[in-house]
Amino acid sequence: MSLHPLTSPGLYVHVPFCQTKCPYCDFYSVTSTERLAAYLTALDAEARLYREQFPAFDSLFLGGGTPSLLDAVQLSTLLKTLRRYFAFAPDTEFTLEANPDDISADKLHLYRDLGVNRLSLGAQSFDEAELIFLKRRHTARQTRQAIELIRAAGFANLGFDLIYGLPGQRPEAWLRTLETALSFTPEHLSCYQLTLADDTPMGRQAAAGEVQPLGEEAQRNFFLLTDKFLTERGYLHYEVANFARQEEPQAGGRRHYRCRHNLKYWTHVPYLGLGPGAHSFQAGRRWWNHRSLQDYCAALDAGLPPVAGAETLTPAQLRLETLYLGFRTQDGVALATLKDQPGWEAILTELTGAGLVEVRHDRVVATPKGLVVADRLPLWFAA
Ligand code: SF4
Repeated sequence: MSLHPLTSPGLYVHVPFCQTKCPYCDFYSVTSTERLAAYLTALDAEARLYREQFPAFDSLFLGGGTPSLLDAVQLSTLLKTLRRYFAFAPDTEFTLEANPDDISADKLHLYRDLGVNRLSLGAQSFDEAELIFLKRRHTARQTRQAIELIRAAGFANLGFDLIYGLPGQRPEAWLRTLETALSFTPEHLSCYQLTLADDTPMGRQAAAGEVQPLGEEAQRNFFLLTDKFLTERGYLHYEVANFARQEEPQAGGRRHYRCRHNLKYWTHVPYLGLGPGAHSFQAGRRWWNHRSLQDYCAALDAGLPPVAGAETLTPAQLRLETLYLGFRTQDGVALATLKDQPGWEAILTELTGAGLVEVRHDRVVATPKGLVVADRLPLWFAA
């Protein structure tokens, strides 16, 4: 089987369990593992539904929630399910999201045995006080220990999730976290701005004035500081929140560690999402599952797909989405796509003059300043 990295579908599995709920998080997860067995049974039934529609993948991403919360039997069962129904290319990128406090030498050996070749560690910060503020269960010391174990177990593709823009955070504190992160030479960094959704405990605290989120200008400065700091140290800023380490050029080109799976989301490559709340996309159609574990399991129990909604994108919607996704990435948007918009040349001249985009060969790419407003750029070109 020959699968091209950027056209083969990707498989995402949402593991909707967390030991505790972080007060800023609006991902779907539950803290009781009572339904874990039912979830694994439902997942099996769901995977079976898609075996003909999605016969093969070259990326697998176990996210959540907290996939590292699964024990050896549960994780092996889940993987057996996936391998029963789907084929995976020999070089499949297999990512597992893990929390530092779940990492042990035994678990890492299990992950290697099961074929995990990329770990995404939810470090969030290397500052103990910030971790307490975020109500994370782990300490920075535990993260350091987890990283040492991960490297000792031979994992050569390790990424950290980090959060910046905490209320009252100083740029120096964020730079210290970045410096500590880089001391472990991670292959990948996802740097997220803290956003406080209204329906989260921290969002409600902000609405009540008990927590003061950083203003737009301060957030913008953090974003630009992050871009400068990491790109100066050899990381490729390949998507608004994502940075990949690049190795020195060698014969055969420069190796980089962009996440193959996530690239599919930004380039309209088909993907299948299994589990509560997971989204899928194929041939211009998008569908998404029930968010609640109970509804998800009940649908599959009744022999029905657990789909809560679906849409087929019109050519105009697909074009607009191509702009939204493209302006978020270092690959940008093809000039040919912009040319559908009357007056596109004048708009391009204006945005280039404002330092928000630049033309690279036949593509228009957001500059770091443009990435700050990446979501607004497409509106200029919306036909
Ligand atoms: S561990 Fe991750 S998914 Fe779970 S509540 Fe915290 S931030 Fe959300």
